[in-house]
Amino acid sequence: MKIAILSRNKNLYSTRRLIEACTQRGHDAVVLDVLRSYMEVVPSKPEVHFKGNTLEPFDAVIPRIGASVTFYGTAVLRQFEMTGAFPLNESVAISRSRDKLRSLQLLSRKGVGLPSTGFAHHPDDIDDLIKMVGGAPLVIKLLEGTQGIGVVLAETKKAAESVIEAFMGLKANIMVQEYIKEAGGADIRCLVVGDKVVAAMKRQALPGEFRSNLHRGGSASLIKITPPERATAVKAAKIMGLNVAGVDILRSERGPLVMEVNSSPGLEGIEIATGKDIAGMIIEHIEKNAKHNRTKTKGKG
Ligand code: ADP
Repeated sequence: MKIAILSRNKNLYSTRRLIEACTQRGHDAVVLDVLRSYMEVVPSKPEVHFKGNTLEPFDAVIPRIGASVTFYGTAVLRQFEMTGAFPLNESVAISRSRDKLRSLQLLSRKGVGLPSTGFAHHPDDIDDLIKMVGGAPLVIKLLEGTQGIGVVLAETKKAAESVIEAFMGLKANIMVQEYIKEAGGADIRCLVVGDKVVAAMKRQALPGEFRSNLHRGGSASLIKITPPERATAVKAAKIMGLNVAGVDILRSERGPLVMEVNSSPGLEGIEIATGKDIAGMIIEHIEKNAKHNRTKTKGKG
């Protein structure tokens, strides 16, 4: 198959591994910088251009679109979908997953366990917002933050009020969330491919830090997940419409709580922690599912 990998840098671990897996399985992989891909939007003749040339159609596209280029990146992906290429994850699903609040709303509709979460616009509503999520300590999050940046733990009601007021004053979109203390600075990353959790790792925050992101110094280790955790991760990916997802779960007294569903999960941490060939499994998923023009939305909506 001819597979395009939308990535800004072919030396990144995940991109390199995906190229390797394509080559090993006999496919032809091309890395395209999404910001150098462009298009003319004309009736009934979708094409993607790249550095002055029109690209020949691809069988499949693997989007690795960074959070900072979601808008442009999903527009390019949508164009590939219109050419009939099978997207590993569809543009619509990626857009959904990039908005933490929208994702939690979609998951809540289907009864997935979540930390209690509040969203408000007016500073006069801060008091009730704090009450709604059970008071301090609580977590305040920028809706479009990644890698733990823009995630704040407010230990007291006073601290919570001033941080929320400050963010509101800056017109930043934030949500306020119940702090799951019993998670102990750890979360579980479940890597879903198709309808299975193919690998899982525990991420533990540094002492004195509650964010377990590997980018914040967290450490990864192998973990055996429970059947409810497995079922929750698969359900969350399905609701989001993602074929491949990194579902982040907190272990709470009331069972697994989904924090986030990531549409471009990094492969380095999880492949090293588990010793599994996740890139190979992703390409295998494409082999089994890629049919020309068989995307759910074909670039619609
Ligand atoms: P990002 O998308 O920036 O990684 P997350 O929402 O995943 O943001 O939060 C970063 C980390 O902070 C999580 O991996 C988790 O360890 C911790 N965390 C986030 N929300 C909560 C919460 N409600 N209770 C306890 N810990 C949390």
